[in-house]
Amino acid sequence: MHVTNKDAILNELASIVGKENATASKHIRYAYSYDMSFVTPKMPDYVVMASTVEQVQGVLRLANKEKIPVVPYTAGTNIGGLTIPERGGIILDLKRMNKIINIDTESHYAVIEPGVSHAQLASALYKHNLRFGWPVGPPSASVSSCAISHGIGGLNARYGLNSQEITSMEVVLPTGELVRVGSCAINPEAWHSVLPMPQMDGLFKGWLGSTGVVTKLGITVHPIPPVLKVFTVSCQNVEDMVSYMMNLSNYEICDDLTAVSWWLAQVPIPYPYKPKPENAHEWFCFANTNSFTEKEKEARVEIWETVLEEEKKKGTSIQVTQYPEEALRARTHLPSQIVGSTKNYCKQGGAGISWPGTFTPANKWAPVYNDWKKILIDHNLSPSIRMSMYRGVHYGMLRAMIPFNKKSAKETENARQAIVECLKVDLDHGGMPYKPPVDYAIEINKRAHPGYLLLLKKIKALLDPNDIMNPGKLGI
Ligand SMILES: Cc1cc2nc3c(=O)[nH]c(=O)nc-3n(C[C@H](O)[C@H](O)[C@H](O)COP(=O)(O)OP(=O)(O)OC[C@H]3O[C@@H](n4cnc5c(N)ncnc54)[C@H](O)[C@@H]3O)c2cc1C
Repeated sequence: MHVTNKDAILNELASIVGKENATASKHIRYAYSYDMSFVTPKMPDYVVMASTVEQVQGVLRLANKEKIPVVPYTAGTNIGGLTIPERGGIILDLKRMNKIINIDTESHYAVIEPGVSHAQLASALYKHNLRFGWPVGPPSASVSSCAISHGIGGLNARYGLNSQEITSMEVVLPTGELVRVGSCAINPEAWHSVLPMPQMDGLFKGWLGSTGVVTKLGITVHPIPPVLKVFTVSCQNVEDMVSYMMNLSNYEICDDLTAVSWWLAQVPIPYPYKPKPENAHEWFCFANTNSFTEKEKEARVEIWETVLEEEKKKGTSIQVTQYPEEALRARTHLPSQIVGSTKNYCKQGGAGISWPGTFTPANKWAPVYNDWKKILIDHNLSPSIRMSMYRGVHYGMLRAMIPFNKKSAKETENARQAIVECLKVDLDHGGMPYKPPVDYAIEINKRAHPGYLLLLKKIKALLDPNDIMNPGKLGI
């Protein structure tokens, strides 16, 4: 872009958001050029911090007129390069839009702006004895960015994915118009449901910020049953763990049903790969349950004991174990500075962390894990893998958290290659990557039905005719 033109654009941006909230300074742009993942850094041309819907509209109208790319940004912790500006342009940082607009304590939903963090919403909800599905990620990251990206939280076994908790949306389209989907589209005071109208919230969920900027989000919130009981087991191999989890999941008694491999249970995750001690079990599982009464808890205990007996009769290696107190507290008091600390994940690696994160049928977890383990160990990386069951069905999250040394281009490339290789294995087994970096999007599209790609491109062109929103991220 010509220098004077760049100055003129900066002046226009400053006239929309205020001089102190628009910059082209190199040191600030640099801070937005990279994340923790293996994705190659790229510099934006401008960084803008909007604080109102009108400012977001102004920025998008200008960008659309001038055909400048725009990347919506809240905390940049997605660990998949999703806010790295593939084609430069404007980083639209929404952190200042951080109002909790409403907590409806009777109908059980909240309305929030995109900059509201997990920690901020949690402390507001706890005052009303309400909760949401907090991820094990940084408490400072955005609730809405997690939800619109099909994020995973601590209530997934009970209520499903965080995106399934969305009840209404307000969005600025790439062309600057303000739209609404869900009940708030018909009555501005009603934010309780995306049904029964056509589910147009799907136009903005899982699109990685490439179809518009969400400026308000309605989400379901839930009462906190006071009686906590966590069931913890461990076993020697993934097959036994999957058998236990599928059995327990049939009864739908858990808020969170998650297993982690020995390597993910270490703080920090070993980097490079280190073998597990011979006598240590390979898999550990915690099943969080919350009940309203002691009697309800006892019923859950009875079910869990039945499952345990059944698994033992099958001859599996499942054993009841004690979880370390601190880890247990961290798992049950989300959002957590202990579990969510990126340092805990990657301090041994040298600041890099990335993943193959997938939604995979549970009966494929074992074969995929066994292949991933081989691939990762071959690349001298720890098979630090997590499996989490979703609501009422036998599929869920299968992901590896891979720390690596970001200071070394060679080690970063090694991690990228291993992760993409893992991803291909998972796709072969019918798994689907979520929050996919561009490398994955390309692999997904290679396998896609032509009709899927046709529809994707048509919708994208309809909503974003000049391809300004987070361009390049969908791999099309
Ligand atoms: C150690 C660690 C553990 C993690 N564990 C989890 C976990 O358990 N579950 C989980 O879900 N995530 C996890 N994450 C990922 C991440 O922290 C969360 O998903 C987080 O809530 C994302 O929020 P963010 O503000 O960082 O989003 P960003 O990275 O800023 O944005 C994410 C995506 O949303 C788009 N976007 C942002 N705002 C808008 C908007 N208003 N409108 C349209 N598009 C927008 C961006 O362009 C980008 O594509 C983890 C991360 C780390 C580092």
